[in-house]
Amino acid sequence: MFHNAQPKVLYSRQQIETTVARLADEINRDYRDKRPLLVGVLKGSCILLSDLMRQLTISVEIEFVALSSYGQSTQSSGRVKVVKGLRDSLVRDRDIVIIEDILDTGISLSRLLNYLKKKKPASVKICVLLDKPSRRKVEVKADYCGLVVPDRFIVGYGLDWNEQFRQLPDICVLEEK
Ligand code: 5GP
Ligand code: MG
Repeated sequence: MFHNAQPKVLYSRQQIETTVARLADEINRDYRDKRPLLVGVLKGSCILLSDLMRQLTISVEIEFVALSSYGQSTQSSGRVKVVKGLRDSLVRDRDIVIIEDILDTGISLSRLLNYLKKKKPASVKICVLLDKPSRRKVEVKADYCGLVVPDRFIVGYGLDWNEQFRQLPDICVLEEK
């Protein structure tokens, strides 16, 4: 699947820029006088995190976690593991904002929420650039949500297919040629 696929633009870099600015406004407003810990989910959130944090006027810190990936498959296996975690002391009593590329079935983010909540943070919120609500299997709500996408395979702006296409500046769908 997708071996001969071409990326086709769904949301342009200008639309992404406007969206990231809006997400940053919301976070700046909600965390005024706080110092949240932004937790980026590797690797897909790397571009979102770096663009978003430069629009934040509040103080922030960053950390990264990694979840077991789909590998070559385009479907979540339902058995997501935290493969790179955070020490309890980094999370305890902190205001956490998870930064993730896309909320799809919700399995990955619900797993990560459970993992972080066990470490007793002061609060945990979720920020995603993309939401694919038609595929939800587990109820998870994003507190900060960028753009809604259809049930298509998305690449670009950090999102990959088989580790390719992360560097595309636009949000694209893969189309078979
Ligand atoms: P979930 O556990 O919500 O089904 O999936 C979340 C993860 O699956 C995302 O962090 C992302 O890595 C991957 N994913 C889900 N949908 C897509 C998609 O359309 N394109 C890409 N590249 N990854 C996706
Ligand atoms: Mg991901």
